[in-house]
Amino acid sequence: MNTTAPRLWIKNPLAVFTANDLDAGGGLVVCGDRIAELVPAGGQPLQPCEEVYDAGRHVLLPGLINTHHHFYQTLTRAWGPAADVPLFPWLQNLYPVWARLTPDALELAVEVALAELLLSGCTTAADHHYLFPDGLQDAVDIEASVVRRMGMRATLTRGSMTLGEDDGGLPPRSTVQRADVVLADSERLIRAHHEAGPGAVVQIALAPCSPFSVTSEVMVESAALAERHDVRLHTHLAETLDEEDFCREKYGLRTVDYLESVGWLGDRTWLGHGIHFDDAEIARLGAAGTAVAHCPTSNMRLASGTARVLDLEAAGVPVGLGVDGSASNDASNMILEARQALYLQRLRYGADVPVTRALGWATRGSAAVLGRTDIGQLAPGMQADLAMFALDGLRFSGSHDPLAALLLCGADRADRVMVGGVWRVVDGAVPDLDVDALTARHSEAARRLVAG
Ligand SMILES: [Zn+2]
Repeated sequence: MNTTAPRLWIKNPLAVFTANDLDAGGGLVVCGDRIAELVPAGGQPLQPCEEVYDAGRHVLLPGLINTHHHFYQTLTRAWGPAADVPLFPWLQNLYPVWARLTPDALELAVEVALAELLLSGCTTAADHHYLFPDGLQDAVDIEASVVRRMGMRATLTRGSMTLGEDDGGLPPRSTVQRADVVLADSERLIRAHHEAGPGAVVQIALAPCSPFSVTSEVMVESAALAERHDVRLHTHLAETLDEEDFCREKYGLRTVDYLESVGWLGDRTWLGHGIHFDDAEIARLGAAGTAVAHCPTSNMRLASGTARVLDLEAAGVPVGLGVDGSASNDASNMILEARQALYLQRLRYGADVPVTRALGWATRGSAAVLGRTDIGQLAPGMQADLAMFALDGLRFSGSHDPLAALLLCGADRADRVMVGGVWRVVDGAVPDLDVDALTARHSEAARRLVAG
């Protein structure tokens, strides 16, 4: 910790959620990039503070953490041919459009996705990028540069598709790569961008796309590579019953058996969706410490099913939240995703699922999913990643419990967001970001991409 940096007391928030049982009713002190101390309700900081920010209008949370996204999909939001279909035809309609992705369009897409996330209180995002058409070999490098420019944190996953239509897979041949190309580039990206340890800004993980779009070979080799470099593994699993049928027909295995057969059933792995598991599979995932990114909006939009989040957690599975790609959500809004998770899980388990449990998934749970111990809660020594929501405006008028109001009244925009001790959202806006210009350029790129 930089002890010579000025100390900033974020003082007396309206309400605070620490994601642990520590008391920060009087706010917290930020010094350098970390939280120096929590101030109990009615208390004062232990040491003098050079700066004070009065948080009396704000609900204070750890920065929200998004564990599953496809940033590039902001270019294909609410597109007619993918608006009202389930996963497999949705993918088959979109693959040819996505195959035309260019570096300029991707850069705009990442900027839009990150700005949206940031404005919703998100400070760390995972992205799953698996499209590398000719000319876009440096897609993940582009993503890393935008993440650094925006001042957020990200786990960027080097996705891959290696099983084309000709070989019994789902994606067209034009979108798949050879396994040796995927593996060499995976290793290059780890060496170029992966940061280990507290305060990491960019981390790399390896992410063959799904059982129906990659060969077993690339799954096995990716696991070995991840082990060698101590990075995480990510894939889509058990999202739909179509996928389960595919695994049975192609491999003669259910999804978790397939995962185990390729060496992925371990605590290095987190799975996008994780819906269609039976009791025995949930127990095996829990025993292995394999994590799940719950994506409620996408799961409802594509009618994929409902993840058994409380059962997963009871079995020991770390669970976090993901907004999923913007062609199946179609918003990159983490605080609204926590609301969706709360309501979907209440529908499954009952109205006594607490608001704070959903906030826990979006913070501490998501940090565990990404294998991070330096973010996701408010505690001394943790990174100063904070989301602050002002309960102003019509939608909050007449509300009583500020923490409950955040989700029940549908907060959708943070007023202040800090990442590593630096304010990245001020008065509900990203300083120096021309949102109108970005929107105009991104919309034009989206029109061009779809038009072909
Ligand atoms: Zn996804």
